[in-house]
Amino acid sequence: MRTLTVLGSTGSIGTNTLDVIRRNRHQYSVYALAAGQNVDALVAQILEFRPRVAIVATSQALSRLSDKLVSSCLPRAEWPELSQGDRARVEVATATEVDTVISAIVGVAGLEATYEAIRRGKRVGLANKEVLVSGGRLVMQAVRDYGAELVPVDSEHNGAHQCLRAGNRKEVSKLILTASGGPFRNTPKEALAYVTPQQALNHPTWRMGNRITIDCATLMNKGFEVIEACWLFDFEPSEVHVVIHPQSTVHAMIEYSDGSVLAQISATDMRMPIQYALTYPDRSEAPVPKIDWLQARTWEFLPPDFDKFPLLKLAYQCQETGGSATCTLNAADEIAVEAFLRETIGFSSIYEIVSETLSRMPVRTPRTIGDILEIDGESRTLARQLVTARAARTVSV
Ligand code: NDP
Repeated sequence: MRTLTVLGSTGSIGTNTLDVIRRNRHQYSVYALAAGQNVDALVAQILEFRPRVAIVATSQALSRLSDKLVSSCLPRAEWPELSQGDRARVEVATATEVDTVISAIVGVAGLEATYEAIRRGKRVGLANKEVLVSGGRLVMQAVRDYGAELVPVDSEHNGAHQCLRAGNRKEVSKLILTASGGPFRNTPKEALAYVTPQQALNHPTWRMGNRITIDCATLMNKGFEVIEACWLFDFEPSEVHVVIHPQSTVHAMIEYSDGSVLAQISATDMRMPIQYALTYPDRSEAPVPKIDWLQARTWEFLPPDFDKFPLLKLAYQCQETGGSATCTLNAADEIAVEAFLRETIGFSSIYEIVSETLSRMPVRTPRTIGDILEIDGESRTLARQLVTARAARTVSV
């Protein structure tokens, strides 16, 4: 039986993780659930999964959680231990009772707890992109030093993980990550300045949290995945290729030195990679539709348009640069995406804010998680200033 902590239990990956657990109750027990602000969803999860500990992001959320539990039917003697904040997340990710942590908080709020779980040698099912984009060097060093198992949940990396099991890593020549192309694949570049958050949130194939959905529309998400893949599988950026595959069914391909290409193919349903991260190296029946090979279908593979989606190119450049560049890339993007969702800046300005933040932030070499969080904070402050300046310019024009 695996004993789990789910970081980000109320999000898209978190709820899919709990669905996998729900269907396999005899295999898993839930030690802790960690959420942000959504106490309604967390209370429902507490009633169903009965964790030992439940955590929220802030003291305000903690008092709302406590009030909700009072009005629930759960007798006080059966309440989980309640807590809040960064320290509490680290504690549940490192608890001796826990062997597996699903890292599915969005943003750097999930970094420290994930890093510390790795330092305790836990199995970590990694969805949170920011962990490797911001702290790849430190995190992968910890994986090596402490013998942790880092199994990617992101469907493309999960696909690559599966393809790499088929051969010798030394005989691999490239990794190909697929991208749906997002909702603006066929939108002319000039029209992108006018697209709305609602249009950008309308992802053609996946249902996910808001940040990642906007990042899919700019192809920033694919850029983050290139960075993650470099760290996870020890590739140079030039060895990781992106191909647009609107059907999102082939998730990743590995080309071996003889030109043979292995692809991982499955339905667009995150429960498959989540379950894989839990059961690896074994497999079991997953609650996802199987592909019907008797039905005629067409799968397309197209090159990405780096000119129309310049954030993808920027991601390659940041990974080449190394140091804190990718941490700043992520932080600035998060601020720019928030500003776009608030309709403070336009879609095309996401790139402008990110590239300007990068050009103004000096590249440093973070040596601790604290250094990363500091650089992340400075990058956010700068990006926020740039957003404010841009918004003021737009108003006065
Ligand atoms: P969601 O926005 O749906 O969920 C985010 C989760 O993080 C929620 O549980 C939220 O809590 C929690 N959270 C947010 N801020 C904090 C905080 N400060 N402290 C504690 N918890 C916090 O995101 P997704 O599930 O879509 O994505 C999660 C991560 O996985 C992201 O890094 C994303 O890039 C990655 N990923 C997602 C995929 C997907 O299919 N969704 C695919 C591949 C990767 P609450 O809601 O309670 O506030």
